This record gives sequence, structure tokens and C-alpha cells, in this order.
Amino acid sequence: MKPYRYFIVLLIAIFILSIGGFITFKYIDFKKSNLIKENYKLQSISLKEKLINKISRKKESTTDIAMGLASVPGLVQKVIDKDIPLDYYSKLIKKLKKSKAYKNVWIQIINKDGISLYRSWTKKRYDNLMGFRKDLEKIFISKKSGFSISIGKFDLSFKTIMPIYKDKSFVGIVEIISHFNSIANDLKRSGISSVVVAIKQNKRQLQYPFSKLFIGKYYVANINAPLKFRNYLKKNGVESYFNDSYKVKNGYLIASYPIKNIDSKIIGYYIMFQKPSMKQSKNLHEFVSKLFSLLLIIFLSLIIIGVIVFLFMLKRQKEHYKNIIDSSTNIMITNNMIKTTAANKAFYKVFSEYLTIDDFLAENECICDFFVKEDGYLQKKMGNMIWLKYILQNPDKEHKAKIRYLNRDYYFLIGASLIDISTNEHCIVLTDITKQEEYKKELEFLTITDPLTKVKNRRFYETTIKEEINRAKRHSVPLSAIMFDIDHFKEVNDKYGHDVGDEILISYSKLIASLIRKEDKLCRVGGEEFMIILPYLKLKNATELAEKLRKTVEQSKEVTPITISFGVVQYIQGETKEQLYKRLDDALYRAKEEGRNRVVASE
Ligand code: GH3
Ligand code: MG
Ligand code: MG
Repeated sequence: MKPYRYFIVLLIAIFILSIGGFITFKYIDFKKSNLIKENYKLQSISLKEKLINKISRKKESTTDIAMGLASVPGLVQKVIDKDIPLDYYSKLIKKLKKSKAYKNVWIQIINKDGISLYRSWTKKRYDNLMGFRKDLEKIFISKKSGFSISIGKFDLSFKTIMPIYKDKSFVGIVEIISHFNSIANDLKRSGISSVVVAIKQNKRQLQYPFSKLFIGKYYVANINAPLKFRNYLKKNGVESYFNDSYKVKNGYLIASYPIKNIDSKIIGYYIMFQKPSMKQSKNLHEFVSKLFSLLLIIFLSLIIIGVIVFLFMLKRQKEHYKNIIDSSTNIMITNNMIKTTAANKAFYKVFSEYLTIDDFLAENECICDFFVKEDGYLQKKMGNMIWLKYILQNPDKEHKAKIRYLNRDYYFLIGASLIDISTNEHCIVLTDITKQEEYKKELEFLTITDPLTKVKNRRFYETTIKEEINRAKRHSVPLSAIMFDIDHFKEVNDKYGHDVGDEILISYSKLIASLIRKEDKLCRVGGEEFMIILPYLKLKNATELAEKLRKTVEQSKEVTPITISFGVVQYIQGETKEQLYKRLDDALYRAKEEGRNRVVASE
């Protein structure tokens, strides 16, 4: 797989994993909050159960006390007689007050007509309770023991009522009144704070509120209801807690329980505050964080593995491409406008002294430092343009460079293309055409060289004289030419043989070539007829040169002495090469005519 494809797959995997992780997270979060809710619900139920237990225990214990009181011998008679001593239960109450549960316990005895005969908390007696106490009226009708919660003058209180009988006839009741304080205190010992409130409608009944505490219009029925919780209720609106469910606020689990009177009418609420036990959710929390750590580790591992594999693949791909580039027989380099920055193996095969590009750059800047200045080949600067720019701006041209390194000439075909616009780097491919170029040069040499004398041949003469005439025309510069022919060469051949004749041709060509300037071109145009093209030379100088050549040949003792006749002309503007040739030929003919071994210049 190609790295970028792999990268896309990796991205998709990460994307899917992220979505998976997100869904898992949401699911766990949902489960977690559900479990926490469940946990809170269970705790609130347990709170209510505790309260219900305490209330029923209160009922049982007060019923026991009431039963005991009702069966005290002599009480029946005292009720009938409406004469109960004021200290009748003083000792008992003192005893009861010693136990925490019955600190707030009051006793009342009422006869069958509803007359209060005894109240443990006051000396007041003999008032009629009928009409004020509906709960009493119900007991008087049913004549059964009863338990109720009601709002009285002083407080919200528990009332346990026990009928007193004389020979199966109902004579009155014993009433035990107790408050919520003992329950609240009891709950407090197990870390549950309570605020007991009596609801609004009953407020007017409370003539002498015992605790004197109110939250708005709600009476606080337990004296020691902590201020903090009363404030919470005040702040959040106490009504908002009047439901069967639970709430979690201020770090407390808050559960309320409706307090009902004998008619099952809600007269108040028992509101409990408890720091919720986090044991379950703690475990869950640990589990979730462990799960998440695990997921995170898996996720990160996947990313790390992915990145490593990606880098590995990238490296492998890089190596792969490097191998491809290195296996090329072409030199491939990267070059910016100034220097060469990287090279393949083929490069070091030519530049064999270097092993790395840094080695190369330590001594050179650019491959162009090795370009040989020669016509037809790239140079470091082409006009006023850098070679690389020149290649890019002339994409249709064939660009060749001649490189000289360690005294060897190499020829390359060069192509360049931009690969990185930010670094201005170009890939340059150099195709070795040394063999072709050398062969071409050889061929070129052969086509313009006379095989015997190694001077230029007639073909060369024809093209060169054309070029030179053009130049002389264009720039109005002088151009002269010499035509010469060996005198009586037939005789020489006849006398010494053809081979000697050849030797003479070779050695005298050499002699004459050594006497002319570099820009002058000596060409063998016939058997023993030669031409010398003399650019920029006027007739006078050309004639002098011809004379010098004639003398040198005359005095020379090469192989066998010979003489040569010369015709000299200067190019006349507008003249064709044929006309020029004709004038040369004429001049030479005249030289022969006039006795040979002489120079004839044509004006
Ligand atoms: P002239 O002074 O009038 O020029 O007399 P000539 O004998 O040199 O006459 P011409 O120039 O007409 O003769 C050409 C002779 O040159 C004919 C031939 O024997 C000889 N020759 C031409 N080419 C070669 C060659 O390649 N090798 C040899 N050895 N002789 C050649
Ligand atoms: Mg001849
Ligand atoms: Mg001749």
C-alpha cells in the first residue's frame, strides 16, 4: 500500500475509533448517571425506611407506655372521680426523661366526656377538648387504641391514645404526646440531619409554637433542626422538597416523607439530609477511568503504531524511489539556481573523487562549474542568463553540455524541471551522449578532411567560402583567397612514382599549413590543387603571404624540391563564389602561363 493511502486508512481508523470512543463514553456516562440515580434512589428509600421504622418504633414504645399507664391500678376510679393528683405521673415522667427517646414525653388523661383530667406539663385541667380534637372524637367512637400525628397549640406531635375501661365500659383515655426531636436526634447519630416542617394551612393552630422557628410560613417542628439545612430549604424553596422522590443539592441527598394526620391528610414533611454514600459510584468511577485509560492506551498505541508504520512505509518508499533513481544510468541531480543539492549514483560514477554531495560541495558549488566553454554547448551563463533558467525558458531546444572532469570530456543531453517551488529546486537529468558526440565529431572531421593530407577538403572549402563571403558581405570586411597548384607534378610522379608524389603532397601541405594563421583555412580542392581562405586579409597581405609560401616551398628540400604557382584574389562585394573561383583560377593560369613558380594577384 502506498503511504498516503495508508495515511488515509489511518485517518479513517482514527475517525471511527474516535466516534466509537465517543459513543462508548456517552454510553458509559449514561449508564453511570443511571447507576448513580439508582444509587441515590435506593439511599433515599433507605432513608425513608429508617424514618418509617423510627416512627413505628415510637408508636410501639409509646403504645407500650400508654398501655402500662392505662392499667395502673386505681386509675380507673380516679378517672371516674375526675380526681387525679397533680403529681400523679411525676416520678414516672422523671424516669422517662432520663432516656433519650422519651425526653419530650407528655401525658394527658381525658375522661369519656372529653374533659382533660390530667396534664403532665401544666396544672391546668378540666377543660373540654371536644370540638378541638378530632382525633379524640374518633377514638371515643371506636374505643380502640390509636396513634396519630397532629398539630396542636404548641407543636407537631405524636399522640398515642389508649382507652381506659372499667368492666368493659369505656371511661376515658391515656394520651402520650411526644415530639419529633427524639427521632431527629436518633437519625443525627447515623449522620442524617432533619428538618420537620408543618405545612402552612395549620399555622393558625400553632398558638404557642414550641421551636419558634419558621421557614417562610412553615413551622419547623424539631427544635434542633440545623441552621444550615434550614437555610438550604429557604434558598431553594421549601415546597420543592415536598415530594416523594429525592433531590441532590449542596452535596446532600435530600429525601422527604409526608407526615399525615389521622385522616391521612398531609400536615407536614419530614425532610432528611444525608451525604450520599459514594461507594458504589466510586467503584463505577474507578471502573470507568480504568476503562478509559485502557481505551486511551489502545487508541494512543494505535496512533503510535500507525505513525511508525507510516514512517516506515514512507522510508521504504523513499528507498524505493532512491533505488529507482540510483539504478538510472542517467545522472540525476537536484539543483537550485545557485548550487547542486543532491545527486544519484550515476553522478558519482563520473565525479569519482566524491562519495557524497557534501564532499562535492566542499570543493564545488554546481555541476555547471565543469561546463566547457565551447560553441554549441551549455555554459554557466548563457548571455546574461543562468544556464538552468536558459534551459527552462527554451524547453523545445536540445541542450547539450560538455563536461571536463579529471582530463576527460563527457557530453550530456540536459533536461530540467521544477520539483519544489519553495526551495526553487529543479530535477536535472543528464543523459550521457559522449560516445555519440565523439562519433559525430569524428564523422564531421572525416567529412571535411582530406584523408591523404589531413588538411580540409573540397566540401569544407565550399561551405566555408560561402560562410566567409556572407560574413564579408554582411560586415563589409575584407576577404582574400589563394589558389595554388604544384608545377609539373605529372613529371614528378612519372620520375619518382605515385607514392613519392603522395609523400610530397603530405609534407608540403604540412609545411604550408604551418605558415598560415589559425583562422586561415587550407583546403585540398583537387589532385594537387589547394585553396587558402584568408578572412579579414586584403589583397596586398594575401599576395605577400603567397609570396612567402612560394619562397619557402622553393627553398624547401622536403622529399624532393618542387615549386608552386599561386593565384591571389580579394573578394569583390557582390561577387558570387563561382565568380571568385573563376578569378582565382584565371590568376593561377596566368602564373603558369608566365612561367610557373610565381604569384599572380588579380586586381
Ligand atoms: P602544371 O605545371 O601545368 O600544373 O603541370 P602538371 O604536370 O602539374 O599538370 P597538372 O596539374 O595538370 O597535373 C596533374 C597531375 O597531378 C596528374 C597526376 O599525375 C598528379 N596527381 C594528381 N593527384 C595526385 C595524387 O593524389 N597523388 C599523386 N602522386 N599524383 C597526383
Ligand atoms: Mg593541377
Ligand atoms: Mg600541376
